[in-house]
Amino acid sequence: MWRNLPFLVLAACLALVPARAAEKKLIVCSTTQVADFTRQVVGDRARVACILAPGADPHLYEPKPGDAKLVQQCDLVIQNGLGLEGKNWMANLAQDAGKPVVAATAGVKPLVLDEHGATHDDPHAWFDPVNAAVYVKNILESVSKLDPDHAEEFAARAKLYLQHLRVLDAWIKEQFNAIPKEQRILVTSHDAFNYFCQAYGFRNQAPAGWTTEGEITPEQRQKVVASIASFGVKSIFVETSVNPKTIQDIARDAGVKVGGELYSDSMGPAGSAGEEYLGMMRENVLTILHALK
Ligand SMILES: [Zn+2]
Repeated sequence: MWRNLPFLVLAACLALVPARAAEKKLIVCSTTQVADFTRQVVGDRARVACILAPGADPHLYEPKPGDAKLVQQCDLVIQNGLGLEGKNWMANLAQDAGKPVVAATAGVKPLVLDEHGATHDDPHAWFDPVNAAVYVKNILESVSKLDPDHAEEFAARAKLYLQHLRVLDAWIKEQFNAIPKEQRILVTSHDAFNYFCQAYGFRNQAPAGWTTEGEITPEQRQKVVASIASFGVKSIFVETSVNPKTIQDIARDAGVKVGGELYSDSMGPAGSAGEEYLGMMRENVLTILHALK
């Protein structure tokens, strides 16, 4: 027995050597939310890279040379879809590299926005945890096809995460019971919160419309100031991925407070409470609650 010890130790060590990173599939995601959902499903079985840095704006993003290189090395691209990635930058990168691209929002029933006579599907679907579950199911399907050997494990992780999403949804409803229906009004920089507002009984208004492209006109600004006064709103909110100046100016003109900063099109940096979707939603809810209660 003791004579065999060195061999046993060697065998044990070999068993502990992790699968080489190069053997793992590489999945490139466009936004921080999509990357988080993907990590929740694949765990350490695949590498997940995200093009957008925390705080970056997906509507206005211009791909960099390094992005094209990264996509060339990947096995799968997952984007939000519904036009969130302005000028289709993620799908174009995937197409140029000849890589498959999946929209995490496939099958979500989009809210249709009518702005200045033009209609758009609202791309900010992750803000309703019920839709977030659709993202997770789409991601599960695509990564299971990519790596069928680990499909069972992916399904187990997704099942746990879907439970977290249901708990989150119930918790948010419970929190907002503290705000009377008529006081549930959310004023933010751009129209990112329609799904959130629909899910939790808020009315909302955003001077910039559904995308952050283009300037806000004085008329749009005036309209928001007037409606803040007529609604009797106490606080309005800036967003992590949008320049706060417009909202600060509107707050001053309307004589209301800036109630805090909400995670919107991007989640928080590593180490912040908003670095994952569940934390981002939790912090937003508590910020809104603190400002409006
Ligand atoms: Zn947006």
